[in-house]
Amino acid sequence: MVAAVGSYLDAKSHGGSWALRIDDLDPPRVASGSVDSIFRCLEGFQMVWDGEVVYQSGRTQAYQAALDQLRARGLVYACACSRKDIGDSGLDGLDGPVYPGTCRKGLPPGRDARAWRVHTEDTAIEFVDLVQGRMRQDLEHEIGDFVLYRADRVFAYHLACAVDDSAQGVTHVVRGADLLASTPRQIYLQRLLGLRTPDYLHLPVALNAAGKKLSKQTLADPVDLDRAAVTLADVLRFLKHPPPDEVCADGVSALWRWAVENWRRDRLPGVVSADGPATQKDSETPP
Ligand SMILES: [Zn+2]
Repeated sequence: MVAAVGSYLDAKSHGGSWALRIDDLDPPRVASGSVDSIFRCLEGFQMVWDGEVVYQSGRTQAYQAALDQLRARGLVYACACSRKDIGDSGLDGLDGPVYPGTCRKGLPPGRDARAWRVHTEDTAIEFVDLVQGRMRQDLEHEIGDFVLYRADRVFAYHLACAVDDSAQGVTHVVRGADLLASTPRQIYLQRLLGLRTPDYLHLPVALNAAGKKLSKQTLADPVDLDRAAVTLADVLRFLKHPPPDEVCADGVSALWRWAVENWRRDRLPGVVSADGPATQKDSETPP
């Protein structure tokens, strides 16, 4: 809800449109009914999206075309390594072990391709997040060559995001700071594929008592649609936009009217994350 409310307000307060995409790349892992419950939740909160809903499960041809393009240019390679092979490399990165480059120069004899990886470079990817400021990551050393097509025959989320953000004409990506460390990978793919890099704004993430992101995976309670106004006011307070009492008493529509009028990016708090900022941040503040 924090990411949904923050992105909705940022779009609406700037006269933009708010696109809805269902990131269901991995159909077996998408619980039946979960997409319906997203629609019900957005409707319960009177959040209306603009345009058609895009389902990543229906976009595999576009992802394949992007992968084929990179393959034709020698920018990706087949990898035979298992998760265990890579874990044994002992190189800790920002997002799991750094791939040690075992298959960069070809598959080891007698091994079959499991996944496709993209070559990374030893140069920093930099971007200025609209809230978090200037961010920098060295993909080769901090992440390693990352997977674009998984051993279980599913396209990787980063490739899908880069392709879809461009296809949908997304100008601003507003999402949770749990994806901050992923952004340089997506920017790198945009550059390789000749796609425009959108502006990024990473919102703080709500954590449970154990310091983990509140989500279905951490068994958080579902959003209670009978208390939509109370929840919306809570989310606005979390985002440092506390609504006046009289607005809260007027219900969901009044809260949205107030919030769209009063939304200010400079009120948003910096990263709240259990593990600290996942991406290196300069002390320098953005213009
Ligand atoms: Zn490998």
